[in-house]
Amino acid sequence: MSRTLTLALSKGRILEDTLPLLSACGIEPAEDPDASRKLIIGTNRDDLQLLVVRASDVPTYVEHGGADLGVAGRDVLLEHGGTGLYDPVDLGIARCRLMVAGPKGGAPAGRRPRVATKFVHLARQYFAQQGRQAEIIKLYGSMELAPLVGMADLIVDLVDTGNTLRANGLEPLEEILPISARLVVNKASLKTEPDRVGALTRDLAAAARAAQST
Ligand code: AMP
Repeated sequence: MSRTLTLALSKGRILEDTLPLLSACGIEPAEDPDASRKLIIGTNRDDLQLLVVRASDVPTYVEHGGADLGVAGRDVLLEHGGTGLYDPVDLGIARCRLMVAGPKGGAPAGRRPRVATKFVHLARQYFAQQGRQAEIIKLYGSMELAPLVGMADLIVDLVDTGNTLRANGLEPLEEILPISARLVVNKASLKTEPDRVGALTRDLAAAARAAQST
């Protein structure tokens, strides 16, 4: 009996967009991962289970072997850094943009802008590449709040429709990176389970391509 493979996903857009791809590969969760309180969810395949973790923890689980594979946004992967992961497939799902946003007209001129974000490394890199000085303020969520209470001039956040920004009186100002979700694979798992990990990777890549062409 072969060991159970584990695929790490996160709730929200990634889970929503990955389940149809799994379904196209004939993989169905044993219960609704969105509704369930369980963190490990079996599937109709005896040798595959799903792990539901925080988005920013997906690369950590995969890098350290808590999961064999994972689906994570490009934002999360770049912010995580590290070398313990293969990044073999852009699934083209959960698309959005990493952007600088702020009040109409941007940050006040004449001083270093304060930028609130959970993407500290990506934000620092972006402003540094542009030769712009910025004070980066780390937050874990609801970045839109920071300019409203005068704690920051700008934010760096994911933007899809822009509705969240507009609802809070902010505007998208500069695009940093286009984002989509990628399948990542633990390096050791690929060595010890090349057939099954390889087949799952190929199947998900094919399902992703088919979904994009419809
Ligand atoms: P929107 O109002 O459609 O621009 O969506 C923005 C909100 O949804 C922000 O709070 C983002 O952090 C979050 N968001 C948008 N797209 C994604 C995505 N692909 N993955 C994760 N979070 C996202």
